[in-house]
Amino acid sequence: MSGLPIFLQPALARALALGRAHAVLLSGPAGLGQLELARALAKAWLCETQAAGQPACGHCPSCHLVEQGSHPDLRWLMPAALRVELGFEEAPGEGKAKPSKEIRIDEVRGLQSFTQSTSGRGQAKVLAIHPAEAMNTVAANALLKTLEEPGSVLRFVLSCGAPEELLPTIRSRCQTLSLSVPEPALALAWLREQGLGEADAAALLRLAGGRPGQALQWARAGLGADRLAELPQLMLRGELGGWEALGPTLLVDLLGRLAHDQLRRSHGQEPLYFSAAHLPPPTASARLQRWATELREARAKGEHPLVPGLWMESLAAQAQRALKSDGRPAAADKRPALHSTL
Ligand SMILES: [Zn+2]
Repeated sequence: MSGLPIFLQPALARALALGRAHAVLLSGPAGLGQLELARALAKAWLCETQAAGQPACGHCPSCHLVEQGSHPDLRWLMPAALRVELGFEEAPGEGKAKPSKEIRIDEVRGLQSFTQSTSGRGQAKVLAIHPAEAMNTVAANALLKTLEEPGSVLRFVLSCGAPEELLPTIRSRCQTLSLSVPEPALALAWLREQGLGEADAAALLRLAGGRPGQALQWARAGLGADRLAELPQLMLRGELGGWEALGPTLLVDLLGRLAHDQLRRSHGQEPLYFSAAHLPPPTASARLQRWATELREARAKGEHPLVPGLWMESLAAQAQRALKSDGRPAAADKRPALHSTL
């Protein structure tokens, strides 16, 4: 199982126990490692020395080809934007169309000769689709026919972070493997293997709702336990300087989690993502609700803010308005907070 994160190994064993299933759907919230799991499953199916139902040997020519990304019997179907993000292809140059976030029909049609040919190395042939919900309806319908009549050697592994967005006809032709958040001890051990310190791993895993892949993404963007601990106080002062390096998506996601936690606390519940010790007393839930809505709108604009500096300023002002006990982004609020009156 070389290379597969330890927290995914129980899931791989369950996927292999499905036996000769011709299509497996790896289903669970995004950020659980679906891509790595799909690759490990494809590798096991294509391995030339291991018995069926066993993980890949990791040493045979087929295993090496999967690792190098050049196996003739393995094809990946993923959105162009994701291929660029993962480094499988170059970003388009200036003035070119932005890479699509959808899997399009021409990409599905382009697989025809692959799905209809015989296996190059005489084992199985595997089509991996990640994430399957990125297929638009036309593309999904085009795939359906192949999924219904796969021939004798073709197998599918589909990963999916939002099963409700998949066509039911696609879902029903797959054996579903439900993925859940891994054991915290396994997730933490893996994060430490990736070079995170104990405190950072714990804080980021909590922030990510237990999803280790996402915790690592936060870490690589420069977040750690210390910065997380100071974020709520910075927001109270309306200061977001230096946080733009996270990028709009992660930043808005982070603030969304802060809003979510404060909303929970305004209803007397424990926070999920942040430590209560670092949070200011919650303000009125209507105000926090409004902030959550503002953040959803900010997410839509954030990918291409017209004026990034202004966009950041408005994020900071919204956060301060929502978190400060008097509701006004006043610079000098010297009064003691009277939370009981809210
Ligand atoms: Zn092998």
